[in-house]
Amino acid sequence: MNRICVFCGSSSGTDPAYAAAATRLGRTLAGRGIELVYGGGTVGLMGTVANAVLAAGGKVVGVIPRALQLRELAHVSLTSLHVTGSMHERKAKMAELSRGFIALPGGLGTLEEFAEIVTWAQLGIHARPCGLLDVKGYFRPLVAFLDQAVKEGFVSPLHRALIMVEEDPGALLDRFAAWKPPAIEKWVDQRGA
Ligand code: AMP
Repeated sequence: MNRICVFCGSSSGTDPAYAAAATRLGRTLAGRGIELVYGGGTVGLMGTVANAVLAAGGKVVGVIPRALQLRELAHVSLTSLHVTGSMHERKAKMAELSRGFIALPGGLGTLEEFAEIVTWAQLGIHARPCGLLDVKGYFRPLVAFLDQAVKEGFVSPLHRALIMVEEDPGALLDRFAAWKPPAIEKWVDQRGA
């Protein structure tokens, strides 16, 4: 597992615990020789996780759409930076480069990115691990919602199980390494998606 994509807030949140968790994740990735793929910005937890990987001697690949280059202040010290024409191209590039996907706390953008990548796993477009790194119980309401969606028959237990949740980055990466994709019927061929 040489590259992991991290989706996270372009804000840092109100509690320093969020930035501390992003730093811990960055150090853990670098310590395991795993490259970070992320949104390419310097702002919020995005900048924190990237700086932590770089400070620990790791490699960081940024993927940023041209339109956001200024708003998210594209990081100039990355190992490499891909500039895409659109948000959709950005997400496709991040997915193509990565062998697993983690969401740290974030806002609507983070939620959208993580939901899309899990939906792609659900559809059999990729078979790579996806996990939430919970900090201070931030994702607890989302996990409760997912369980509610299973209970009410909108999400199958098999698809719910695609989302791992851990508080410790090392524990999440251990689960990623041991993860075997479930036998999911391939609804959509990637070429047709
Ligand atoms: P946020 O979690 O809203 O702070 O955003 C985190 C990341 O998601 C940033 O890299 C944003 O560029 C990206 N993002 C924000 N809004 C959207 C959106 N509507 N669709 C896709 N990505 C988004």
